[in-house]
Amino acid sequence: MHEIAIRMTRRNHNAFVHLLGALESQGFNIGELLITKDFSEILRAKPRVVLYSFLTEEIWEVEKEVNVLKEKTNALLVAGGYHATAMPRHTLRMGFDIAAVGEGEEVIFQLLTALKKSNFKITRELMEIKGLLFYLNGEFVFTGFAKVEDFTKFPPFAESSYLIAPIEISRGCPFGCYYCQTPYAKGFRMRHRPIDQIVKYSRRMKDMRYITPNAFAYGSPGAILRLDKLEALLKALQPLREEGRRLFYGTFPSEVRPEFVKPETLELLLKYADNRRLAIGAQSGDDEMLKAMHRLHTTEHVRQAVEYMLEYGIEPVVDFIVGLPNENEESQRKSIEFMKWIMRKGGKVRAHYFMPLPGTPWARCKPSPLSDEMKKFLGRMAAKGYIEGSWGVQIELSKRLQRLIEEFYEEGPSYFGRVNEVC
Ligand code: SF4
Repeated sequence: MHEIAIRMTRRNHNAFVHLLGALESQGFNIGELLITKDFSEILRAKPRVVLYSFLTEEIWEVEKEVNVLKEKTNALLVAGGYHATAMPRHTLRMGFDIAAVGEGEEVIFQLLTALKKSNFKITRELMEIKGLLFYLNGEFVFTGFAKVEDFTKFPPFAESSYLIAPIEISRGCPFGCYYCQTPYAKGFRMRHRPIDQIVKYSRRMKDMRYITPNAFAYGSPGAILRLDKLEALLKALQPLREEGRRLFYGTFPSEVRPEFVKPETLELLLKYADNRRLAIGAQSGDDEMLKAMHRLHTTEHVRQAVEYMLEYGIEPVVDFIVGLPNENEESQRKSIEFMKWIMRKGGKVRAHYFMPLPGTPWARCKPSPLSDEMKKFLGRMAAKGYIEGSWGVQIELSKRLQRLIEEFYEEGPSYFGRVNEVC
């Protein structure tokens, strides 16, 4: 019989694979966990605890499952991930008993160990564990934001499990774009997994893929290029390539910042990696908007990056966000022109609609409506297959997020204290 279940999904797969590595390395027997993507299996098993991890845009789906679990089991429900970190009180309102706030590697181990000892009851002992929000005798208890000083203490996957995922090679980001949760949940200082560890665990992958906010910033504090460290990493992975594995770097599931795309970095990519496309974030064709969202690069950086990529035979895949707060028709026109230029040059565009995310400076900002020109342009380009992206469904989702944040607004904890709101 399984006492603890992990509700895996396609979207939280990577997070839980990493957490299983962390649990096992701290001495937890992961063999005793029920790890499943099949919700009905959890219902049948009737565990004492069910662990969830999800994003804010998934809460409506998760809430349905929580209701079923509450009705059919007595399980204690625990949530971690970006939503629980940014809106822990709302997470309890959803029906969870405990929200895990912050970086999860240590808190998950301490929590499960404590729950097993207390026969799966919420007791005062949980007050000793940093990174939890729960009710105790009718009172809210918040034990602080959990930070993991050195995430590389924990392997990216568990030795005893067949489950693997792209390896998180770097964590944290110094740029602080106002719409992004990463720096507020993971810190502004970029930290990196050592090369020998990356090589060791990459051996278990057929296609070697990595998670990082900016793949070309490997080895640096984040805002500068450390070409020596980047090359050392890529070089160290070559024996694995020679054994038949493919190396994908700076593309799904990660990307690179445009100002890091230079002849030097592209030469490394051509020499050491297998991908011939690279994902970069442009986000807008209007420099004023880039300034407003604190991107800390200009359209010129993007233009230059695209030119360099084409020169080196690498296909640019360029992300845009449309419907940004305070974006007017003129700003949208500039984005349209920029997208057209990229496509004419042979690049791909991915368009996303602005979604206000809790725990970011733009959490309470309103998306701007799309101009008729923008709607027509995106529709036409998507029909021809020139533009990818989910801006269509994101318009509806964005409205739901706005309503959620308005109704249940909370000043969520963050990696370094209060998040300064800009709207
Ligand atoms: S969008 Fe990218 S560069 Fe900006 S803060 Fe987030 S991770 Fe960093």
